[in-house]
Amino acid sequence: MSKKLVTCGKCGEYTPVVYRTKYLGSGIQHTYAVCQSCGDKVTVYYTDKELRQLLKRQEKTPYGPKKVALAETINNKMNELKERYG
Ligand SMILES: [Zn+2]
Repeated sequence: MSKKLVTCGKCGEYTPVVYRTKYLGSGIQHTYAVCQSCGDKVTVYYTDKELRQLLKRQEKTPYGPKKVALAETINNKMNELKERYG
């Protein structure tokens, strides 16, 4: 559990934000940040099984065109999931 001080977009407080992961079923995980001041939830990202595998593969891939292409695929998939579940 990581804590980070950020300015909340909703209440404007400079507050520690806690990242939480919620399991939505069928392998979908929703990671979001919670403002400790007003309790507002901000979506960080959604991942599914395939996306988590891609993220692991990206970690192992050395810097280069392959990693860039992988990052693009991951980004597109994250946006897709965000539209579907967000
Ligand atoms: Zn807030």
